[in-house]
Amino acid sequence: MAFYKSYGAAGEVTGSCHFLKIGDIKILIDCGMFQGEEEEFNYEPFDFNPKEIDFLIATHAHLDHIGRIPLLVKQGFKGKIISTGATFSIAQLMLKNSAAILETNKKPLYTTKDIDPALHLFGTFLEPNKSLILTKNIKITFKNAGHILGAVSVKIKFFDEGIKKSIIFSGDIGQSKRIITAPVQYWKKANYIFIESTYGHSIHDNLTISIKNFKKQILETIQNGGTVVIPSFALERTQEILFLLKQLSIKEKLKDIPVYLDSPLAINITKTFQNYPKFFNTKVTKMIKNNENPFEFDELIQTYTKESSEHIENHKGPKIIIAGSGMCQGGRIGYHLIRYLQDKKNLILFIGFQVHNTEGNKILNAKKEVRISGITVPIHATIHSIFGFSAHADQHELLEWLNHIKNVTCVYLVHGEIPQLKALKENVKLKLQNKVHIVKMHEQIHL
Ligand SMILES: [Zn+2]
Repeated sequence: MAFYKSYGAAGEVTGSCHFLKIGDIKILIDCGMFQGEEEEFNYEPFDFNPKEIDFLIATHAHLDHIGRIPLLVKQGFKGKIISTGATFSIAQLMLKNSAAILETNKKPLYTTKDIDPALHLFGTFLEPNKSLILTKNIKITFKNAGHILGAVSVKIKFFDEGIKKSIIFSGDIGQSKRIITAPVQYWKKANYIFIESTYGHSIHDNLTISIKNFKKQILETIQNGGTVVIPSFALERTQEILFLLKQLSIKEKLKDIPVYLDSPLAINITKTFQNYPKFFNTKVTKMIKNNENPFEFDELIQTYTKESSEHIENHKGPKIIIAGSGMCQGGRIGYHLIRYLQDKKNLILFIGFQVHNTEGNKILNAKKEVRISGITVPIHATIHSIFGFSAHADQHELLEWLNHIKNVTCVYLVHGEIPQLKALKENVKLKLQNKVHIVKMHEQIHL
């Protein structure tokens, strides 16, 4: 007998945690943190016994997919964690950073001392297009998900009372065209599919137009003597931005314009990126093979220490500052915003979606002034958003990904807010197949 049970990312986009029981073997696919309005769910006990889980498959290193692993280990999980090598490298940095942030809370979910025991359980590495036999009855295969460095979708094949069955968990799926990442790979066959639905209702802006617009906005601002402030996510988005700025640097369009990378986490992650050429598109892979660093150029200055970060403002001329966090919730971006929002020559360039109630969203919607860290800041700078850089597939691309898979008994929709899930469900029914279901939290599904 085999069944699935949902413990997160059901009717919402965070807290990914999927439980699978095949015979006596218990497998988790991801164990992510709930974020934003769902944050309090992190403090609820696991609804299963962590000691009884045999394997945990980590699809990628975003915190909403791995952020509760230290908690799971603290509560007795001793099984094997299976991931790509790249996911493990990034997970080390992400989990240490997460613990440091959690430690500032009165009742932290976990602390720095809980990270090493969790990292010790990683070490079973599987790369895209390779398979691993978990037990004599269960085999798993990874394919590139095209989402972030190291991200995969996973197929689990097994025999259930003599009948051969297969399930795919999509993880987070990227777009077919990405700035640096290798494009998504498609599966051919499976009985059951659990697919993310983050943008099940949306169509993204064109990537090529977005890149042109990004470069145009930056060049106009620096030509007018202004400063460009880019709130950026440390993982993947920052490396994409560095790659695009390198192209401007090669064309000598950034001459004498310092580009500050002002995020210790982003600096560390960028170093890791160069070790995994297989996960990049052909252009970036070629650069790495030719010993060229795709994320480094003459004008780049990495400000690792707080002291060097504070010196950025001493440079009075035009410059570019990339700092976290991507939604302006903490990190070093706060004091750059306070300083540079007040001059009309400057540009605040948002390059990622700003969730409701975040500081970034408040700045986007503010008219004349905004409060940052208790200070009222007048807004004179230009504020601009670029939407085409998403690491997630949109509705067309999700349907395209599904369309490649034959022999499907049922499609299960997870990792999406209700309007996105409903729209994707309707479209799957209309264009692909009748059996499609929106998974609810704690729902048990027999396979
Ligand atoms: Zn993700």
